[in-house]
Amino acid sequence: MRQTEICIIGGGPAGLTAALKAAALGAEVTLVDRNDYLGGQLIKQTHRFFGSKEQRASERGISIAKELADAVESNKKINVLKKATALGYYKDGVLLVEQDEKIIKIKPKKLIVATGGAEKTLLFPNNDLPGIYGAGAVQTLVNVFGVKPGNKVLMVGAGNIGVIVSYQLLQAGVEVAAIIEAAPQIGSYWVHASKVVRAGVPIYTRHTIKRAWGDTEVEGATIVELDDNWQPIEGSEKDLDVDVICLSVGLSPLTELLWQAGCQMKYVPELGGHVPLRNENLETTVPGIYTAGDAAGIEEASAAMMEGALAGINAAHSLGYDAPDLNKQKEKILMELTGLRSGPVGEKIRRGLAKVTC
Ligand SMILES: Cc1cc2nc3c(=O)[nH]c(=O)nc-3n(C[C@H](O)[C@H](O)[C@H](O)COP(=O)(O)OP(=O)(O)OC[C@H]3O[C@@H](n4cnc5c(N)ncnc54)[C@H](O)[C@@H]3O)c2cc1C
Repeated sequence: MRQTEICIIGGGPAGLTAALKAAALGAEVTLVDRNDYLGGQLIKQTHRFFGSKEQRASERGISIAKELADAVESNKKINVLKKATALGYYKDGVLLVEQDEKIIKIKPKKLIVATGGAEKTLLFPNNDLPGIYGAGAVQTLVNVFGVKPGNKVLMVGAGNIGVIVSYQLLQAGVEVAAIIEAAPQIGSYWVHASKVVRAGVPIYTRHTIKRAWGDTEVEGATIVELDDNWQPIEGSEKDLDVDVICLSVGLSPLTELLWQAGCQMKYVPELGGHVPLRNENLETTVPGIYTAGDAAGIEEASAAMMEGALAGINAAHSLGYDAPDLNKQKEKILMELTGLRSGPVGEKIRRGLAKVTC
């Protein structure tokens, strides 16, 4: 049985920032990630971030991942377990982690769950054909492994992820036949959408996928226009000759460990699915269990880093660690989070958070 003061599950931007903040206050941390690298989703994000300078605007996700991962791996207060999957958390406060086909038992005083999110899928005939991917998976294939998923893609979803991944596919020499979006307007920033449109990719709003074609792999797709009630308009179908269908229809929080730990959960569509109730310190309804990042509600890497910082500070503080400027640090992060979630862009997140913050 390994004892640790704070165990963090997930080495994405939320988990890495939580580890650095907790260690900076003096806590001893164990960070667990199932991958053989740290950085979570950031390791494939080659584009420049938006937002303000404090939120790392104009830096690339891959650079942020490297900077955070290097800082964590060189920090003597942080013990990193890679290729290690947290399998379960039990009533006696013991966490089971599988690494190298062995089970490790960890008993942390505090637990931070920063497991991120999983891509959602869509129901349509033949949606199990090889050649149908989540957009994040395609971004990993292209940007991390240098593998083309195919030659001609239909992108379903015109949020930031769908549009950015479409542009990155074009950069990799893959044709994008179209981007379709069920809503009447795109969700992506216009600057990203303009780039793909300038490259000749049509974006069809009020359209969805009706079916995929092919016997053993994707050979095409039928798309259809939607009316004001989101119902398919008969006769508006178009067949597209594509060998890849890429689904970019959102993420849902990965919360299995929080369910298992007995945290009170609530379905909040604005945050992507079931998320834990939490207080302002990001502590769930189970004392000593904190959450941060996409696991707490789907947002962006900048929010994940700030929530990670808060969870790390609060978990360490609850163990007695302190700093003269601790309150100032927390206030600054909370102010930045409020700024990030302000305005019309943050309206949905604010609505979601109002339902789970107790
Ligand atoms: C394709 C794509 C493009 C994006 N582009 C942008 C962008 O341009 N700007 C932006 O701000 N945001 C972007 N985002 C969103 C951003 O990447 C996420 O909001 C952010 O990475 C969330 O951070 P996180 O630490 O909560 O989770 P993640 O980055 O998902 O990290 C979670 C980590 O937990 C690990 N893990 C999960 N379960 C377990 C377990 N049981 N045991 C051990 N380890 C586990 C995973 O391996 C992973 O490393 C994008 C997301 C995607 C999918």
